[in-house]
Amino acid sequence: MSFAQFGLSTAILQALNEQGYTAPTDIQKQAIPLILQGRDLIAAAQTGTGKTASFVLPLLQKLDNGTQVRSRSIRALILVPTRELAMQVENAIRQYSRHLNLSSLAVYGGTDLETSKQQLTQGIDLLVATPGRLLDLAYQRALFFNDLEFLVLDEADRMLDMGFIDDLNKIIDRLPSDRQSMLFSATLNEKVRYLADTVYDDAAQINL
Ligand code: AMP
Repeated sequence: MSFAQFGLSTAILQALNEQGYTAPTDIQKQAIPLILQGRDLIAAAQTGTGKTASFVLPLLQKLDNGTQVRSRSIRALILVPTRELAMQVENAIRQYSRHLNLSSLAVYGGTDLETSKQQLTQGIDLLVATPGRLLDLAYQRALFFNDLEFLVLDEADRMLDMGFIDDLNKIIDRLPSDRQSMLFSATLNEKVRYLADTVYDDAAQINL
């Protein structure tokens, strides 16, 4: 199977080619078509399986066909447990979107708050964030969620282990309900499933 079979745009295919990717991984084969169809998703996937591209590629495809982002708005929110993962995911977004006209930003404890606020004034298509920092920015009215179309919870089990449940609930409460949501987790334990139930009701499930 090739990436072209998903119907991804030539700009995305070109970036994948430049990355040296020849074929999609198992999680990519399963997740990309479901996300392109607009389904909510819960996926059990370990790091190293290509899970980042499995949600970033369809999001880029969908966002590229959409509207211009407004000031202090974001269109896709990717929540991650750590600054390392935030940097890694944002770096992947930058690679895959190099031939697209989309903006991305990572915010986490340790990034300069004033700089992040400044960058958000232009509006950001894909924001990668740790939960605490995202709430700080929302409380300071540096960003608004009215235009949010996509939510990704990446490494959900780790976010719960790190005690982010209250922050996650506060964030989810603020998001428009007509969004598309995706949850990725190394393990789908009871706590993760409970969180998934608060995020959506009828999700497709992928177990690798
Ligand atoms: P991840 O599981 O998202 O952390 O990705 C693990 C590594 O696999 C990263 O270094 C990616 O650049 C790489 N990768 C992701 N998808 C593919 C693919 N289809 N072909 C080759 N490498 C890939």
